[in-house]
Amino acid sequence: MSAVVAFVGLGHMGGPMAANLAAAGHRVIGCDLVPEALSAAEAAGVEVARDASAAAAEADVVITMLPAGRHVLALYQDEGLLAAARPGTLFVDCSTIDVADARAAHEAAVAAGHRALDAPVSGGVTGAEAGTLTFMAGGGEAEYGQAAPLLAVMGKKAVHCGGPGAGQAAKICNNMILGVSMIAVSEAFVLGESLGLSHQALYDVASTASGQCWALTANCPVPGPVPASPANREYRPGFAAPLMAKDLGLAANALRAGGIDSGLGLRAAELYAAYAEGAGAGEDFSGIVHALRDAAAAARHQKEGTR
Ligand code: NAD
Repeated sequence: MSAVVAFVGLGHMGGPMAANLAAAGHRVIGCDLVPEALSAAEAAGVEVARDASAAAAEADVVITMLPAGRHVLALYQDEGLLAAARPGTLFVDCSTIDVADARAAHEAAVAAGHRALDAPVSGGVTGAEAGTLTFMAGGGEAEYGQAAPLLAVMGKKAVHCGGPGAGQAAKICNNMILGVSMIAVSEAFVLGESLGLSHQALYDVASTASGQCWALTANCPVPGPVPASPANREYRPGFAAPLMAKDLGLAANALRAGGIDSGLGLRAAELYAAYAEGAGAGEDFSGIVHALRDAAAAARHQKEGTR
C-alpha cells in the first residue's frame, strides 16, 4: 500500500533513499537546508516542501536522515516537527545517533501522541542508491510492521533488534567490531612486514584460518590480496574514516555511560578520531594502516635513539 512519506535530510544517504521511495510509487515530500539537495530530489520525483513541518503535516510517516542526534532532537522539539504532524504519525529516524538521543527522540515522539522507530543503516551511499541497505530497527512490533514495507524498498535486509534505541545499539556494536578488527588486521600486516612476511602470504593463511574477518577478506587494508578493496584505489572510500570515527565516538559514549571498561573499543575510538582529523579526512577507514605503520616506525626510531 502506498504511503505519504515526509523525508527530512536529503543528503548523500537521504537523497537516494527518498528517490527510491518515490520510484516505488509512494508520495514523498522532502526537505533539506541545501538547495542543491532539494533540486536533485525533485528531479528524482520527490515533492519539495518549504520546511520540515510543512512536509510532516500531510504525512503518514516522517523519515529523518540527519547528521547527529542534536539535529534530530532540535527538529523534533525546538523546530516544531512533532507538533506539526497529525496525531499517530510514525517517526522513523534512520540517522546514526547516540543511543541516549534515540531513546529521548522516542520519548518525545510518544509524548506528542506519535509512534517512533529508530532504524539506522549500513551499506553506505552505494547501498542507498541501489536500495540494498541493511536496517537495524528499535521500537515496538506494530511500529516495525508499519515501517517494514518502506524499509524493504530502501534496503535488502531489516532486523528488528528490540525496543527503543536497540537499532542504534546494534549499529554501534557492529561498527565497534569493525573498527577494532580493522586495527587488528592492520597491526598484523605491520608486524608481518617487520618480520619479512609478504602481504600475500599473510593473507593466504589468515583469510582461511582463524584470523578471517570482513576487514581482511573484503576491505583488506593493503593493496594486492583483495583487488576490490579501497587500498587498491589510493584508499578512496568505501566507508570514510570520519564516519568510522563518528560511530566509534558514539560507541565510546555508550561505553562510558554504561561504565564498561572496554580497553579496545575506547582505544579504537581514539585512534580513529586522530586519523580522521588528519590524513584520513578523505580516506577509506582501512587507510589507518598507514597511521599505525608510521606510529610503529616512530616508536622503533625512538627506541633505537635511546639505546
Ligand atoms: P549528509 O551530511 O550528506 O546529509 C545530511 C543532510 O541533512 C544534509 O543535506 C543537511 O543539509 C540536512 N539537514 C541537516 N539539518 C536539517 C534540518 N534541520 N532540516 C532539513 N535538513 C537538514 O550526511 P549523510 O552522509 O547523508 O549521512 C546521514 C546520516 O546517515 C548520518 O547520521 C550518518 O552517520 C549516517 N550514515 C551515513 C553513511 C554514509 O556512508 N554516508 C552510512 C551509514 C550511515
